[in-house]
Amino acid sequence: MLTEPGVLSVTSVPDPECGTGEVLIRMRGTGLCGSDLAVYAGQRPPPRRPWILGHEGAGRVAAIGAGVEGLTVGQDVVVEPDYCCLACPPCRQGRTSACAGRAAVGLTVPGLLSEYAVAPARFVWPVPPDVPLEDLVCVEPATVAWAALRRSGIAPGLTCLVTGAGSQGLLLCRALVEHGVTVHVQEPNAARLDRACSLGARPAPPDGETYPYLFETSGAPGAFEQGLRRLAPHGTAVLIGLSTARLDLSPRDLVAGQVTLIGSMVYDHPGDFARTVAALRTPSATPLGAVVSDGYPLDDVDAAFTAAATASGKVWVDLG
Ligand SMILES: [Zn+2]
Ligand SMILES: [Zn+2]
Repeated sequence: MLTEPGVLSVTSVPDPECGTGEVLIRMRGTGLCGSDLAVYAGQRPPPRRPWILGHEGAGRVAAIGAGVEGLTVGQDVVVEPDYCCLACPPCRQGRTSACAGRAAVGLTVPGLLSEYAVAPARFVWPVPPDVPLEDLVCVEPATVAWAALRRSGIAPGLTCLVTGAGSQGLLLCRALVEHGVTVHVQEPNAARLDRACSLGARPAPPDGETYPYLFETSGAPGAFEQGLRRLAPHGTAVLIGLSTARLDLSPRDLVAGQVTLIGSMVYDHPGDFARTVAALRTPSATPLGAVVSDGYPLDDVDAAFTAAATASGKVWVDLG
C-alpha cells in the first residue's frame, strides 16, 4: 500500500468480498508502468491513502459471486482494469475508452498489487493455463499498444517511427513488427534501444528519412515535436504518451503537413482485450514477456518501483 508519496508498506488488510457479478482473484503477478509510478511519486494522487496500486494483473479465480457464468475456481485469468459503464453514449457506440464513468483500477478504485482482489466478471478474462506469468502481466499494456495500432489503421509493409522504447514503446514495437510493419525507433537509453532491436525494430537513422506514421510513446518533452518533423505529408501521428507538458507547435505545423492526429487512450471493451487474449494461443517468436526485464518478490516491492523508472524493460511484482 502507498502510505505517502514514495513510501510503500506491505500490510495485512481484510480480504475483499466477492459480490454479485464479481470474481475474487488470488493475484499472482502485477506489472508496473508509468501511471503506477506517477501515483507512487505523488504526481497523480490516489483517492485516499493508504492505497493499493497496480492495474496490470494476472491471477487465478479463488471464488465466484452470484450470477457469474463462464468462469471456474482455479482458472487462470487476467483483469481488464478499466471498468467502463457500458450504458453512456460513448460506451453504446463501442468507444468505451471515452466513458466518463470509467473506473480505473489502481487509480480510482483499489489496485491489483495485492494477494486478493475482486473484479466485475465481465472484465475478467480466462487465459490458457500454460502461459508464463511474464507474458500475462504484459497483457494489459500490450492491449494499449494493440489499440493504438488498430486506431492508426497502419497497413503491413509500411515503415513507421516510434519515439520512446519504455515498456509501452517496446510493446508497440513488438505489435507493429508482428503486424508486418518496419519499425524505426528513437530512444536515448541504449539498453532500451537494444531491447527494441531484439524485438525486431531498428534504430532510426539520425535524419533524412520521413515516415507515413509516427507513434509517440515517451511523453518526453520535445519528443512529439521532433517526431512530427519527420512525418511525411499526409502522415498520421498517434499520441500514446500521457504527458501534461504543453506542446511547442503551431496550427500551421499540422495544417501545412496535412497531419492526421490520433490520441489513443487505453482500449475499447471488449474487442481489444479479446484480441490480445486470443493471441496468447498463437506461438510467437517474441512472446509478450520478451519486453520484461525483471520480476521482484513482494518483499522487494520498493526495489521494483525504483527499478521500474530506469529499467530497460517492464518490471513486475511476483505475488507468489
Ligand atoms: Zn499500465
Ligand atoms: Zn460509459
